[in-house]
Amino acid sequence: MSRPLSLLLATAAFAAGFSCSGSAQPASPPPTDITFVRELAGIREFHVASNGLRVLLVRNTSAPVVTVMTTYHVGSRNEVVGTTGATHLLEHLFFKGTERFNRDRGTSLDQLLDRVGAENNATTSYDRTNYYVDAPSDQLPLVCDLLADHLRHLRLREEDRAPEMTVVRNEFENGENSPWMALNKAIWASAYTAHPYHNQVIGWRSDIENVPIGKLRAFRHLLLARQLHAYPGGRLHRGRRPRGGASALRRPPARAASDSRTLHRRARAGGPRRTVVHRAGEPGVVGVASTP
Ligand SMILES: [Zn+2]
Repeated sequence: MSRPLSLLLATAAFAAGFSCSGSAQPASPPPTDITFVRELAGIREFHVASNGLRVLLVRNTSAPVVTVMTTYHVGSRNEVVGTTGATHLLEHLFFKGTERFNRDRGTSLDQLLDRVGAENNATTSYDRTNYYVDAPSDQLPLVCDLLADHLRHLRLREEDRAPEMTVVRNEFENGENSPWMALNKAIWASAYTAHPYHNQVIGWRSDIENVPIGKLRAFRHLLLARQLHAYPGGRLHRGRRPRGGASALRRPPARAASDSRTLHRRARAGGPRRTVVHRAGEPGVVGVASTP
């Protein structure tokens, strides 16, 4: 599900000259509604009252870098027939940009992060989607600004969806060519009948190829409604509240979906099931799974 990593060395001139305040929208003042919740095994938890954001800080001073990972509690289990694979497709479209940060302006997420020696990627699963950036510690404000703006202001244009769909379809076909992944898909579909786990994260081909951009926009609001966790880790100062970019994280969701909960309940299997996948080729794969 992940995109290939990319990394360019930072140019000192750009790193020294860049400022978030130079972008179209001025930076927000630091938030005052962040409260410390608890600390467990060196992980410090904070809560942002204005939008419910949960922030976990993990301190590691072994290198002057910081990792910020945002986790949305939305995955393929929140999809329905007709939009299977939408979460993963949105993961790809996330990197197509916003009005402030896009390739046309030379300010895309990838371009800005490459220039400061940062790298980024994302993954999609059944129950969550996460995006992360590894960057020099002094670029934390930029990283948070980028992630927050992409959270709220993705352009989600049809002209971006169409070519990206072929990339996603290629991922789907790679899975079809893998004996294990083909069997795994059949096992999940057999084990879960009346639950979204029935569908693989990548989705079904017909949905991947045909989901309209309007449905993807609607689905994005589900991500906003479920909000996210942010996990900055790295060279952070102990005892301080999250700083440098926290002003970006304080922005509340644009609007919430009417109901983002998954209403399905898993049906009892009612006994063992067996599924056999026949494909051309020699490898034989056997998989065994049990559901609680
Ligand atoms: Zn992918």
